Amino acid sequence: MKEFGYQRALDVSGALALLDADPDARFLGGGTNLVDLMKTGVERPGRLVDVRELPLDRIETTEDGGLRIGATVSNSDLAAHPDVRRRYPALTQAVLAGASGQLRNMATVGGNLLQRTRCGYFADVTKPCNKRDPGSGCPAIKGEHHNHAILGASDHCVATHPSDLGVALTAFDAVVTYETADGPGELPLADFYLPVGDTPHLETALPQGALITGVVLPPAPVAANSRYRKVRERASYAFAIGSIAAALDVQDGVVREVRLAFGAVASRPWRARAAEAALLGGPVDAAAFAAAADAELAAARPLPHNGYKVTLMRNLVVAVLSELAEEAAR
Ligand SMILES: Cc1cc2nc3c(=O)[nH]c(=O)nc-3n(C[C@H](O)[C@H](O)[C@H](O)COP(=O)(O)OP(=O)(O)OC[C@H]3O[C@@H](n4cnc5c(N)ncnc54)[C@H](O)[C@@H]3O)c2cc1C
Ligand code: SF4
Repeated sequence: MKEFGYQRALDVSGALALLDADPDARFLGGGTNLVDLMKTGVERPGRLVDVRELPLDRIETTEDGGLRIGATVSNSDLAAHPDVRRRYPALTQAVLAGASGQLRNMATVGGNLLQRTRCGYFADVTKPCNKRDPGSGCPAIKGEHHNHAILGASDHCVATHPSDLGVALTAFDAVVTYETADGPGELPLADFYLPVGDTPHLETALPQGALITGVVLPPAPVAANSRYRKVRERASYAFAIGSIAAALDVQDGVVREVRLAFGAVASRPWRARAAEAALLGGPVDAAAFAAAADAELAAARPLPHNGYKVTLMRNLVVAVLSELAEEAAR
């Protein structure tokens, strides 16, 4: 493992200055992803700037009734927060479906959003990989890809984004806030992750050296009736092979509002806008849910060994919306 320096930042301007002073420096959250990748040589920073002591560890209600979640809030504290549990239950469920208790205690909100793909070729520095080493090729396309993308991929990379938290945040129109030496900025999560195209190594629209300060959730009454469902190859401590965050509001037997986002099917959390449009104002039954799933999945381009994800996601849409419809009827 390459030798590296370590410094702890105590305020935001200090953190930005430390990063600015060393082009080889990186922010360190809980280290549960970055340090693992440093051990294997995928990441090779010369300095780590620890941001966990920054005053970004609060969850507060915003003036308009949404929630502001600080970037250094641990995944455990996020999942346990009473406002999150009550107003955005899918968010709590998504976080608790990820990793393990110990990891969630360490992992931060900012780090979770920036965690890297679990593609095995990316993690193995002896293999080519366009994301790690631009222009070297993508062995996953003709190789091991049973858990790779079916939506929005390219000929250059078919990796998926592993975050469960990001899927629920995407369904609820979260906005990422950040700070740079030039001042603050924000990015809706829908624009935060870049399309893969021919530059899979460029993953987010965050400016170089930006510090994520938090995530803002707009008020969303529909989110009170929401659910996160994750399918994985073993019952716990495993990444998703498909997941869904859904929220549903029904009035007079028709869909008044609906939110749907898919996980583990694309290079980013996938907002299922075609499915949402198909459902809005329509009936609340399994046939309508299946038709909406089909509308979204018409764009799927599965590889030889991951076509099962199309069926999986269709079944998840129908199952989870049916459960939410029952809840709404109570
Ligand atoms: C065994 C195992 C199982 C896991 N299972 C799951 C799972 O099922 N679902 C899931 O979603 N995740 C899972 N994870 C991933 C885990 O959730 C992430 O590792 C974690 O959320 C990353 O957060 P962190 O604070 O530790 O980030 P770090 O590892 O500290 O950082 C990750 C990246 O974010 C950057 N960064 C951190 N904070 C900031 C900031 N404020 N501003 C700008 N950049 C920043 C770092 O520079 C780095 O590039 C698993 C991890 C492990 C090891
Ligand atoms: S899918 Fe992406 S991350 Fe995986 S080997 Fe191909 S380029 Fe690399």
